[in-house]
Amino acid sequence: MLRLYNTLTREIEDFRALQPPKVTIYTCGPTVYDYMHIGNWFTFIRYDLLIRTLKASGFEPNWVINITDVGHLTSDADEGEDKLAKKAANEGKNAWDIAQFYGDYFITSLTKLNFTTPTQIPKATDHINEQIDFILKLEAKGYTYRISDGIYFDTAKFPRYADFARLDLDEQQAGARVEVNPEKHQANDFALWKFSPSDQKRDMEWDSPWGKGFPGWHIECSAMCLKYLGPTLDIHSGGIDHIPVHHTNEIAQSEALNEAPLAKYWVHTNHILLSEQKISKSLGNTITLEDIMAQGFSGETLRLLALESHYRSQSKFSYDAMRAAQARLVRYRNFAVLRYQQQDNATEHLAPLELLPQLENDLNTPLALAALESWLNQIELSNRYRADEITERIKLIDALLGLKLESVPDISDQQKQLINERKQARSDQDWAKADTLRAQLEQTNITVLDRPDGPIWQYLS
Ligand SMILES: [Zn+2]
Repeated sequence: MLRLYNTLTREIEDFRALQPPKVTIYTCGPTVYDYMHIGNWFTFIRYDLLIRTLKASGFEPNWVINITDVGHLTSDADEGEDKLAKKAANEGKNAWDIAQFYGDYFITSLTKLNFTTPTQIPKATDHINEQIDFILKLEAKGYTYRISDGIYFDTAKFPRYADFARLDLDEQQAGARVEVNPEKHQANDFALWKFSPSDQKRDMEWDSPWGKGFPGWHIECSAMCLKYLGPTLDIHSGGIDHIPVHHTNEIAQSEALNEAPLAKYWVHTNHILLSEQKISKSLGNTITLEDIMAQGFSGETLRLLALESHYRSQSKFSYDAMRAAQARLVRYRNFAVLRYQQQDNATEHLAPLELLPQLENDLNTPLALAALESWLNQIELSNRYRADEITERIKLIDALLGLKLESVPDISDQQKQLINERKQARSDQDWAKADTLRAQLEQTNITVLDRPDGPIWQYLS
């Protein structure tokens, strides 16, 4: 039985799908104004893990991850400039080009990082009508008001507004910064539709019943959840910084309109720290996927590092930690290549490998990796195991952890030839020649271990 920590109740609960085996799941995706940093990738890797775990537990996830390409302002609380418009202005480009470039980059990177393919990756700008329709219905129900720069959601009309994030609204109102729009009725009220400034033509703007403008950030998720997954989802997910504003606002507008819970389970991932600081663009300490790959690390190494810590704890990124994860991955890969080295009539059986129970326990990846390591500790590096059993175990590991062990290649015929020559040199007691051949192999990233049943090769990195 899958168990998940539900932010709604602050408890670990049994997961019971609304209409099993189907599971509807929405993940708040990236705002595509720049390269995603590794903090974003850690979050998405963990959602991919959730999807893999759901599948292994017998569910059929319908996973939607959106692309925010309009309306996300530099402050989550509807202040400042649109992030895409700002980036476009800084680079002398059009906001549409920025959206296209970083949107495509995100989708390409999902493949690079071996993500489960989401069912849909909808863009906010492709759903303007749905958002306008959503706002019109909220307006008809009396949840909105108009001020000089847009149409806002009146949080006073939704009495449960503070419940999800357990906010202290009085304290927030008293502490509201002076720059909060003074026309707003409550500090927490948020924009559903923003008007284009009268003296300016925006790259991204649309006609609406309220005038030219663009949607607020929060309404896109509510509109796309409703369109693709229905009024009530099984799981809604995002980062913990979405809890007090973005998800609180999504709940307010969706539940006000649909009169049904937006999601049964809310799953949130914690931050990743770099040098003890939260990684964020505003702190100027971002690291991208390309930075990591330029250092010679693979996407699977980043994935393994993300899985080493539990999704609800703060994890730390460092290149030392990446090197340690890489060494760990090499060990797994060297288990996978044992299947290429099976002796004729290999009879040794592998012990069963259990990873799903740890993952079904609120996605406990540290325990799953510990189980994998202790299982590997019992395995001799030998060619006596049956290749079909090795293949079955690596398929299990790959299905759950996405480490692509099945695609680790065999060595070349030339390398095999060198191994045979070295074996011959050893039986001829020509130690000098055997050493030379070993050195030659090591230059091709292969080392040889001499075992009673013959040599075993391994990748060095
Ligand atoms: Zn969202």
